[in-house]
Amino acid sequence: MIYKTDYHIHSWFSDGKSAPEDYIAPAVAAGIKELGFSEHLTLFKGFLEWSMDSPDVERYIGHIKALKENTRNIIVKTGLEVDFFPGKEKEILGCIRNADLDYVIGSVHYLGESTVDLGPEFYEGKNINDLFEAYFNQVTEAAASGLFDIIAHCDLIRIYGYKPTIDQEPLYRKLAKSFKLHDVAFELNTNGRNRPIGDFYPERQFLKIFREEGVPVCVNSDAHMPSRVGQYFDEAYNLLRKAGFTEMAVFSKRERFMVPFK
Ligand SMILES: [Zn+2]
Ligand SMILES: [Zn+2]
Repeated sequence: MIYKTDYHIHSWFSDGKSAPEDYIAPAVAAGIKELGFSEHLTLFKGFLEWSMDSPDVERYIGHIKALKENTRNIIVKTGLEVDFFPGKEKEILGCIRNADLDYVIGSVHYLGESTVDLGPEFYEGKNINDLFEAYFNQVTEAAASGLFDIIAHCDLIRIYGYKPTIDQEPLYRKLAKSFKLHDVAFELNTNGRNRPIGDFYPERQFLKIFREEGVPVCVNSDAHMPSRVGQYFDEAYNLLRKAGFTEMAVFSKRERFMVPFK
């Protein structure tokens, strides 16, 4: 039996469609043992409708804490999905250092002033090789920052199907080495299947690189609605099995433990 966890869930505290409570029953039905919320926290960009503002964080953490205490049939965990901005490490640390969290997911949605996942226009007229290199460099930097336990959708730059002409293996190799060196897990994010790319992150043919480099893995749905909790997980586990993974990462109070993956 696989010890199923889903640590990447958005409720209406950020851009999810439902209350945290509404995710419990579908998670139990999907056989999830640990359900973790990871609301967006995007600092430095002013008001954004998909993100909490920093004053909301305490209220959110308190809400999930109460949910944890009142839920018996599944373990509830508290996380955040925090945007990484190079040069802002200190400020980000200041926001999360003393928060009562089980894990922090780091994400790169922004390259410079623009998000890479809010429309294909961002890619038009740009050098795709350069964009991939810039994106992977920024994710590598996020891993090296020491701020995060897990890195989300590490090749989100694939979202609209643009493909570089350069060999991508060295990009993934460098990324995986950095994750390992800085003790950061990667996620197999199944929500890519619901997005324009129509497949998981990261690119399945490169999963074996993360295994070869010994990077811990989580399987996450990045669900924004209850019906997507644990979505496509059996397929994800099969992919991991085929790539040779034998254990998965679980988190508690920002500490990582490994559970056997059968
Ligand atoms: Zn994200
Ligand atoms: Zn997310």
